[in-house]
Amino acid sequence: MRAYNERRGSSTAQGYGAEHQALRAQLIAERGNFCEDCGGSPMPANPLDLDHLDGNKFNRSRANLRLRHHDEHSRKTALLDGRWGKPALVGR
Ligand SMILES: [Zn+2]
Repeated sequence: MRAYNERRGSSTAQGYGAEHQALRAQLIAERGNFCEDCGGSPMPANPLDLDHLDGNKFNRSRANLRLRHHDEHSRKTALLDGRWGKPALVGR
């Protein structure tokens, strides 16, 4: 399943386009520039991600959206990926 893993890797790295960035900026304007998980501010090495609670990035309902630190988002994504039985985020 080498091709499958490569596809997932590239979508994680570059799957968020301009529309997603605009939505993230809008959420920050509405809710404030902080992490909804821990309440902390974004850091240069740990910016805020736009997280989709149900894992469906096409579900743009406000209730499905959370601003959270990239680190926390990555941990969640790693957990979700672990469900699929592949080594999650190795080497990052
Ligand atoms: Zn946080």
